[in-house]
Amino acid sequence: MTPELDEKLCKKYPKLFAQRNKRMQETYMCWGFECGDGWFKLIDTLSHFLSLKKVRIEAVQVKEKFGMLRFYCFGGNDYTDELIHMFEQMSAHICETCGGWSKLRHVGWTYNMCDKCWNQFKDNKKSIPKILMEKLKKREQVCSLRDDL
Ligand SMILES: [Zn+2]
Repeated sequence: MTPELDEKLCKKYPKLFAQRNKRMQETYMCWGFECGDGWFKLIDTLSHFLSLKKVRIEAVQVKEKFGMLRFYCFGGNDYTDELIHMFEQMSAHICETCGGWSKLRHVGWTYNMCDKCWNQFKDNKKSIPKILMEKLKKREQVCSLRDDL
């Protein structure tokens, strides 16, 4: 997710994303929201509902896995667990790139793209989509930092 949208979420929900600026030894949230901008509204809405609850809950990792949102938390209760599960399921139908209606496409890697983003991707096979490029860069960064530990 772009730094601007990342910052927006952290400012709007400071308690939920309190771990965002903690060190990598303490939390995976140090990597920010490891997904595309297309899920900003989805995460914003989920965060809104989670924040309404008078229960301590902190996100420890927010990322894409197998084309779907994963929202891991510390704390919460049965209600927040169900809410998160519902939004994770909904993410399968929302394009991670643009936020449009999408479907999961299993082609070696699982892509979560709408028809428009998918066609753009297919037409330009040689270039890796920006969203994947960001993920690969982040993974390289994580690996090199882990080696340093
Ligand atoms: Zn799209």
